[in-house]
Amino acid sequence: MEKIVSLAKRRGFVFPDSEIYGGLANTWDFGPLGVELKNNIKNSWWSRFVHQRDDIVGLDAALIMNPKVWDASGHLRGFKDFLIECKHCHERFKVEDLLGGGGWEKEYEFLETLSPGDQEKRVRDLFKKCPNCSTVGQFAVPRKFNLMFKTFFGPVYDEKSTVYFRPETAQAMFVDFKNILNSSRIKLPFGIAQIGKAFRNEITPGNFIFRTREFEQMEIEYFVEEKDWEKHFEYWRTEVPSWLKEIGIDSNKLHELEVPDGERAHYSKRTIDFEYDFPFGKKELFGLAYRTDFDLKNHETASGENMKYKDAETGKEFWPHVIEPSLGVERTFLAVLASAYSEDGDRVVLKLPPAIAPYKAAVFPLLANKPELVKLARKIYEDLRKKFYVAWDERGNIGKRYYAQDEIGTPHCITVDFDSLEKGDATVRDRDTAKQERIKIDRLEEYIGRGLI
Ligand code: ATP
Repeated sequence: MEKIVSLAKRRGFVFPDSEIYGGLANTWDFGPLGVELKNNIKNSWWSRFVHQRDDIVGLDAALIMNPKVWDASGHLRGFKDFLIECKHCHERFKVEDLLGGGGWEKEYEFLETLSPGDQEKRVRDLFKKCPNCSTVGQFAVPRKFNLMFKTFFGPVYDEKSTVYFRPETAQAMFVDFKNILNSSRIKLPFGIAQIGKAFRNEITPGNFIFRTREFEQMEIEYFVEEKDWEKHFEYWRTEVPSWLKEIGIDSNKLHELEVPDGERAHYSKRTIDFEYDFPFGKKELFGLAYRTDFDLKNHETASGENMKYKDAETGKEFWPHVIEPSLGVERTFLAVLASAYSEDGDRVVLKLPPAIAPYKAAVFPLLANKPELVKLARKIYEDLRKKFYVAWDERGNIGKRYYAQDEIGTPHCITVDFDSLEKGDATVRDRDTAKQERIKIDRLEEYIGRGLI
């Protein structure tokens, strides 16, 4: 993990946010190469799940929505964590983490009925040693904590102007459901896809970009007839891992965890968490949930608008049921980096699939002080970069330039030498094998492009 974090900073993938002011806890910025990798991951997802399909359409909704949305969706009441603080060291924990699972809500309800003295006694029985300072029996009574970020909409700071940063992108797909139906000719089963920011006031953010308070999601709400939900659930259960494989995530490190009753989100009847063996342990990479017709139904009740789907043939109206594959962009980014990171002797290589590598190729003149080589290399560079994002380097010796490109995952390095001037070709070196081939200059675009399919 340390190696990945250090590489990410050194080579401009991920920096601590506001670093000159000491940073902002667990908040990160994506640097010049990070933004490329992140965009390539998002574009790959969009291409596969929106552009290459007839049955899924896109959406880019406002981040701050009418707060009634969060009332109807259950987030105002149900989107909470329980925080417990050690009175000795003041470290805070999620109750769920200390108890090693869910099922705590019932206990909390019971706790609320007790007198303060009995509450403290019960807490001492349930929570023993502080994992931070090892003090025994010093936990305060847990508190309920809504995870949504609050702010004020407009210049008046009062209850009526309180709004929330969305904690998931999903709700917009439900709220806009009718607009999408009415403006497209889409028929069941179909999906709505969105990529965008979400905010959660997490109690324990950490592990680099794994858990942050501001993050991005890639979500699909896939609408189906109730009778078919299991079939579609099974489909998405393999479809998402298949995409993850395409972007280089090691399938052997992906594991399913069936989330038991009592531990699922308030809207879900079945959830599988897909966990990945991150360098710091096995943790959720993405989730697959069967949200039933919970959301559309609630929005109809709360808004008074008809949120049903009308079958054109039978005339039957009903709320479709929903299967939701939901991925975090940053967690995917981290799993991609962890899967791609490799060492070959003292050479560090990011074995990223070419389609998501920040640069598709790097172009070098063998010697920076030979104008004829620089001129030809520059011409190749200018031509290629109309099609792909390509790097230019003329510093130091060629070995160092290869090394620098390997470390950021550039699949091919193209070197222009004296033979290139006579024969119209260049040396192309492969990142993973370090093998070199001579390729005609007019075939370079096709050669680089082939690796991207
Ligand atoms: P966790 O159990 O790790 O808190 P979750 O089950 O609450 O996650 P979901 O509500 O299912 O997460 O959100 C879908 C996806 O969004 C997660 O699988 C994850 O990839 C991403 N995600 C959720 N919370 C965060 C966060 N705080 N930081 C980064 N990504 C997140």
